[in-house]
Amino acid sequence: MNPSVRAHVGLGANLGDARATLTQALAALAALPDSRLVGASSLYRSAPVDAEGPDFINAVAAIDTTLGPLALLQALQRIEADHGRLRPYRHAPRTLDLDLLLHGATRMAGPELTLPHPRGHLRAFVLHPLAEIAPDLVWPGHGRVAALAAALQGQAIERIAP
Ligand code: ADP
Ligand code: MG
Repeated sequence: MNPSVRAHVGLGANLGDARATLTQALAALAALPDSRLVGASSLYRSAPVDAEGPDFINAVAAIDTTLGPLALLQALQRIEADHGRLRPYRHAPRTLDLDLLLHGATRMAGPELTLPHPRGHLRAFVLHPLAEIAPDLVWPGHGRVAALAAALQGQAIERIAP
């Protein structure tokens, strides 16, 4: 069996009842095999970045898991599919987007999965919720999450619910 690692997952939705979708997605993360949900941020509202449509609802979850990175990504994609995620075109609005931000100290760049997530450290909708639950976490190559979040001004984001 793999050792347990702390993974962080970014959740986003901007179609349908996005708040309800995120609540259901957190429950699905809590039910993942070989994993334990150990933290979840508040819900946030953000304007679309690299995407289209209405504002997004976002959150970040922390999971302790013995799933390897690809197995975890596949499990996340199954949850997306269960929520009717379609990919009609790149950056299309989405009922549910689950991004694997970090998987312990795993660093990899492959056709299916890049870790850490290549754009996560640039996005307020990732860094603000992540800083709420893991301010002292270091994003490899970039620094402490709380400092990265504080340095990102100008991307509209607001905390909407605990
Ligand atoms: P995005 O989240 O960037 O808007 P998608 O959710 O459609 O776009 O993901 C596109 C592809 O990105 C997925 O098919 C997945 O294989 C790949 N991918 C690479 N690295 C990651 C990662 N760290 N987390 C999630 N998906 C990733
Ligand atoms: Mg994604």
